[in-house]
Amino acid sequence: MAAVPVLIGVPYDASSSFQRGPAEAPAHIRQALWSECSNTWTESLRDLSLPGVMADAGDVALTDATMLADVEQAVRRELSQGRTPLVLGGDHSITLPVVRAVHGERGAFSILHFDAHPDLYPEFQGDRFSHACPFYRVLEESLATGLTQVGIRTLSGIQAESVKRWAVTLVSPEDWNRGWRPQLDGPVYLSIDLDVLDPAFAPGLSHPEPGGCSTRQLITAIQQINVPIVGADIVELNPRNDPAGLTARVAAKLVKEVADRILA
Ligand code: MN
Ligand code: MN
Repeated sequence: MAAVPVLIGVPYDASSSFQRGPAEAPAHIRQALWSECSNTWTESLRDLSLPGVMADAGDVALTDATMLADVEQAVRRELSQGRTPLVLGGDHSITLPVVRAVHGERGAFSILHFDAHPDLYPEFQGDRFSHACPFYRVLEESLATGLTQVGIRTLSGIQAESVKRWAVTLVSPEDWNRGWRPQLDGPVYLSIDLDVLDPAFAPGLSHPEPGGCSTRQLITAIQQINVPIVGADIVELNPRNDPAGLTARVAAKLVKEVADRILA
């Protein structure tokens, strides 16, 4: 059930716990994606610039106070037209309304989540919708049949309790080095926090965390997904920390390879 991937920008970072900036990311990712610095072909030789291959719905019109509803509505609109959302964050809080929309329109799926952080706090700094909480909310609302988190290297006591409570599958950077690969048996939602990458590969973030994976490792894992992708997000690029635009290039590269798997 390959569907046309549609880019949806979410210029929102008001749920960030440390720095602002990811609200500016969608424009930078689009610029890198279509820049003559590279071409528009995926590694499996699909040209994303051909008419009808990939759509772009622009950025969601939102306010900080109504972001959750604004994003869910915008994503539902695209899903109801038969397209598959490829969402450009924004901070990671934007995953919750996207997953709500996909759950509402597409039914059951598991989530494959790449991140340095589990984002499993029941609440953070008094905010239940912080970018440190989206996966706790997703599990609490029973929006996914399972959650696998890959690249996690900042577990804390309270989040370890969440892992146990919700039976989350954790894949550490070491597991990954020892040959982990995605093992999926049904539709999947893909959430990529760019800080899963080592800061050597992606420094333009709010929360760079040493000891992460390489860009190649992440691309390989994406290319190994062999089940339908019902939706995806790429979040946490902070252009204010990305003066050379290199991390935006990484995000654009990932957009291409995720789009390729949506089209597969
Ligand atoms: Mn993170
Ligand atoms: Mn995250």
